[in-house]
Amino acid sequence: MSYIEEILDLVKRRNPAEYEFHQAVDEVLQSLEPVMEKHPEYREARILERLVEPERVLMFRVPWLSDKGDFEVNRGFRIQFNSAIGPYKGGLRFHPTVNLGIMKFLAFEQIFKNSLTTLAMGGGKGGSDFDPKGKSNNEVMRFCQSFMTELCRHIGPDTDVPAGDIGVGAREIGFMYGQYKRIMNEFTGVLTGKALRWGGSLIRPEATGYGCVYLAQEMLKTRKETFEGKVCVVSGSGNVAQYTVKKLLELGAKPVTLSDSNGFVYDSKGIDLKKLEFAMELKNIRRGRIKEYADKFGAEYHDGKRPWSIPCKAAFPSATQNEIDEKDAETLVKNGCTVVGEGANMPTTPEGIDVFLKANILYGPGKAANAGGVATSGLEMSQNAMRLSWPAEEVDKRLKQIMVSIHDAAAKAAADYGFPGNYVMGANIAGFVKVAEAMMDQGHV
Ligand code: NDP
Repeated sequence: MSYIEEILDLVKRRNPAEYEFHQAVDEVLQSLEPVMEKHPEYREARILERLVEPERVLMFRVPWLSDKGDFEVNRGFRIQFNSAIGPYKGGLRFHPTVNLGIMKFLAFEQIFKNSLTTLAMGGGKGGSDFDPKGKSNNEVMRFCQSFMTELCRHIGPDTDVPAGDIGVGAREIGFMYGQYKRIMNEFTGVLTGKALRWGGSLIRPEATGYGCVYLAQEMLKTRKETFEGKVCVVSGSGNVAQYTVKKLLELGAKPVTLSDSNGFVYDSKGIDLKKLEFAMELKNIRRGRIKEYADKFGAEYHDGKRPWSIPCKAAFPSATQNEIDEKDAETLVKNGCTVVGEGANMPTTPEGIDVFLKANILYGPGKAANAGGVATSGLEMSQNAMRLSWPAEEVDKRLKQIMVSIHDAAAKAAADYGFPGNYVMGANIAGFVKVAEAMMDQGHV
């Protein structure tokens, strides 16, 4: 058994049934073989053994009262995985599928993603198995207040700064921030994704989707191509999907799909700005189903399906983990897809990733492709610390610079280690080395 296999075995034995966590660790560690060969000092200092063990795992009860007066109980999490290069930073996810393994996979990914942004942020993630869907505003507020009543003692602007993720948008961040302020009696940048009126950053809502397209644009440049006229398939219809579509339209591409957990819409005429506005109002305000888009604009609706069978040049999975399997990846490649930008975290299964890499398409893994969200959260933290706000152009310029530097760092690391064009190897290696060096500097902690 190789050293890397030994560590993977240890992770599986120590964390049984945490399948998504195993998958995330496996993907990163498989990339690190050449790094460990080049740096025997990392093995001596047991960097990998320490890296796969979270610094702290918080799991707590979240009791709340429904509108009917029933007692409800959910489970809350915060994983403070690695603080070698900065305070823990990562989103909160509210979704019924949330469990310890999913939280740990997301927090583990976040370590390398945050490292790639060039900003000083460690890796963390949290959330709850609470489902905001179908709940009233008051129920969501009571849940958020109860969640923060416990979480507030573990976080802080220099300790751990949560943000949004699936099921946690501006509304939830507002309710949680209000409760933090009330209990701690301080107005600080303890959460990002705040509303503009009280400490948020311009471009933060747009950042993940825009950043993902910027990274894909950089990948395309290496083949002297642009987005002009390219048909794009996008999954999801939440924050990331919406702003991916918006940026694609700006660059002259033709996005044709959106989806939610019930199915997907295929608009062969293309989703234009007006139709996107309808989808945003539908999802962000009325909190309805994407099927309504098909009914309104006469587009196709495919119940219970994902959009990967639609022929396209570029695909942007922007909903959830493991939404592209081997067969989907084969279909995409067969139909002429040459670019994949992962807005979502770990949306492609390991078998699917193999298909993309073997086909030598431009495959931008989530760690690199969706890092624009957390990078702009980092910019929100800087603005909060300085108590000022930058104009949208300034934030967007910085976001773009960061995405270009992520692309270049991943491309360079891949080439340096003998895997040119492999952004999976590149992103994992570049993200890891910075964290490993910081851990070496800080002694055996
Ligand atoms: P939202 O909650 O705004 O939207 C999520 C979208 O994905 C919705 O359309 C939702 O459908 C759909 N979806 C969620 N779970 C599933 C599922 N199990 N099967 C099918 N569809 C599903 O979340 P975001 O847009 O913020 O996040 C999307 C992805 O991007 C996640 O993987 C997240 O971790 C990642 N990400 C987000 C960042 C951010 O800044 N927001 C930053 C980096 C990564 P429905 O409406 O039916 O719930």
